[in-house]
Amino acid sequence: MTDPAVEHIPLSAPDITEAEINAVTAVLRTPHLSLGPELAAFEQALAAYHDVPHAVAVSSGTAGLHLALLTLGIGVGDEVILPSFTFIAVANAVLQVGATPVFVEIDPVILNLSPAAVEQAISPRTRAIFAVHTFGVPAEMDALRSIAHHHNLALIEDACEAIGAEFDGHRAGSFGHLAVFGFYPNKQLTTGEGGAILAHDAAHATRLRSLRNQGRQPNSGWLDHAEIGYNYRLSDLACALGRVQLSRISEILALRRAAAERYHHLLSSIPGLELPPLALPRRTISWFVYVVRLPENVDRDRVQAALAAQGIATGRYFAPIHQQPAWRNHPSTTLGALPLTESIARRTLALPFFNRITSQQQARIAAALRQALTPPSF
Ligand SMILES: *Cc1c(COP(=O)(O)O)cnc(C)c1O
Repeated sequence: MTDPAVEHIPLSAPDITEAEINAVTAVLRTPHLSLGPELAAFEQALAAYHDVPHAVAVSSGTAGLHLALLTLGIGVGDEVILPSFTFIAVANAVLQVGATPVFVEIDPVILNLSPAAVEQAISPRTRAIFAVHTFGVPAEMDALRSIAHHHNLALIEDACEAIGAEFDGHRAGSFGHLAVFGFYPNKQLTTGEGGAILAHDAAHATRLRSLRNQGRQPNSGWLDHAEIGYNYRLSDLACALGRVQLSRISEILALRRAAAERYHHLLSSIPGLELPPLALPRRTISWFVYVVRLPENVDRDRVQAALAAQGIATGRYFAPIHQQPAWRNHPSTTLGALPLTESIARRTLALPFFNRITSQQQARIAAALRQALTPPSF
C-alpha cells in the first residue's frame, strides 16, 4: 500500500562509478575473462591493503568460508565455535565440511563473540574459532587470539562485513590464520558476487588456489586434478570491478561514516531508541549497516510495516542462526539457550544505509521512525 508518488529508499545500494564501468569494459576487450591479469592484480591489492602476504579471490564469501575450513583440515568430529548472531553461511560452512557448529553468546555492546563464552565452550573436540566482525565492528581480537593460541585452535576471521575496520591499528582480516571477505552488492566493497581469503602461510594460499580451481596444481594441465576441488573462481570482470572499488575504499568508508553520524544526530532524541556507538575503544568501525535497537515493548513488525508504507525498506539484522527453521531442529549442532542473543535480536532494526544516502532521505527515515515509535495520544 505504498504511495507510488513516494520515493522508495532501499536497504542498501551499490556505488558504481564510471571508473568501475570502464575497468570492466576494458576486460571485455581482452581474451582474459578468467584466471587472467585482473585476478592476480586484485589479489595483490587485497593482500597489500591488509599487510598480509597472500590473498586468494573466490566466487563468494560463502565459498571462502568453506575453503578456509577445508584448508585448515577441519572436518568430521571437529567442533567450531561461532556466534549465532550472524549470517547463516558461517554455520552452513561448518556443516558443509562435516564439523559441528557450537553457538555461543555475544558481547552486548560490540555484538561479537564474548571471549568468556568462547572459553567456556571449548571441549576436547574444539578445533577452531570463527571470529565474525559483525556490522563492521572488530571482535575482541587480542583475547580471541590468545584463547586460540592457548588451546591450540585455529582462528578464522569472518571479515565479510568489516573491510577496512581496525583493532589496535591493524585491519580486520590480518589477525586470524585465515580471514574471509565477501563482496556481495550490499557490502562496503562489491564485485557483484565474490569473496576472498587472506592467508599468512604460503602453503595455505597454494591449497586455497588448488581447491578453488577443481584441485588443479599451479603447473598441472587443465585436466589434471590432484585433489577434490571446486569451481569457486572469481572472473576477471569481477576482479577488475573489485580493484577499482578497493582503490576507492577510503572514500567509501568516509561516506558511510558520515551517513552513520547523520543518523546519530537525527535519531538520538527518540526516547528508548538505542543507537550503535559511533566510536569504540581500540577500534575503527567500517560501517556495514546501521542497526538500531527498538525499545523493549515495541512490536518490530508494526514498525517495519509503518516504514514500508512510506517506501522505506528495513531489515532484521540478524535473526539468530539457531532459531532459523533450517537449524532449529538440526541434529548437527550443540544448542544451548542464548538469552542475550535472542533478546538483542528481537529488537534490532537495520535502516537504509549506503554510500550515497542523502541527508534528505535520512531525515525522512528518522521522521517516519519517530512517528512509528510515538504512542498514539488520545
Ligand atoms: C555477507 C556475509 C557472508 C557471505 O557472503 P556471500 O558473498 O553472500 O556468500 C558471510 N558471512 C557474513 C558475516 C556476511 O555478512
